[in-house]
Amino acid sequence: MDFAAARDRLVDSLLRRDVIERPETAAAMRAVPRHEFVPEQHRTAAYHDRPLPIGNGQTISAPHIVGQMLDLLELTAGDRALEIGTGCGYHAAVTAELVDSGTVYSIEYDPELAADARETLADLGYDIQIRTGDGREGWPEAAPFDGVYLTCATDEPPPALIRQTAIDGYLVGPFGGGRQRLYRLQPEPGGGYSSEEFGAVLFVPMQG
Ligand code: SAH
Repeated sequence: MDFAAARDRLVDSLLRRDVIERPETAAAMRAVPRHEFVPEQHRTAAYHDRPLPIGNGQTISAPHIVGQMLDLLELTAGDRALEIGTGCGYHAAVTAELVDSGTVYSIEYDPELAADARETLADLGYDIQIRTGDGREGWPEAAPFDGVYLTCATDEPPPALIRQTAIDGYLVGPFGGGRQRLYRLQPEPGGGYSSEEFGAVLFVPMQG
């Protein structure tokens, strides 16, 4: 199977459907071999636009949601990014293609998934820092971040993550009890934040 061709077709279709608009996002998605991040038996489906199981009851998000979230963060080369929910590491790799892997930090609750993601990312040459723990606390020593995003859903945006987002940066994630929606928040200089909403989504719930 020609994985590179399948990947290009997928990104072309995301662009055509206006799911992603930024050329930086498209280039980052064209660069990351998603099939290397999914279990062997799902490889042939790696470039279908859908979530796939990655073990321990978790899933890798569908490509369109990864692209949409990356577009919303509006990151540029050299920016600092924090991910909550490393999973298999795919989404972190796409972010790293955009900003440079030395400035991507990711927190994963499940130690097994974190260990596997570390190995996959290192094998592919990504230098992404991964920490095991509860992402609600963020990564204060490495803050502020130009972009923070969550790949697991919580009722309300965790306050520590808002504090660790730069004033001109964004926090993107699925929030809302019961009915999740994708939001983009921007902290305000005097405290508090503004928020925009981008429709209904379905992410795994945040644990802990
Ligand atoms: N970005 C991932 C998607 C993983 S699914 C990828 O590309 O594969 C969401 C992940 O969030 C799961 O791996 C889950 O274990 C993790 N998670 C759940 N609760 C968490 C928490 N409190 N802190 C950090 N990670 C959490």
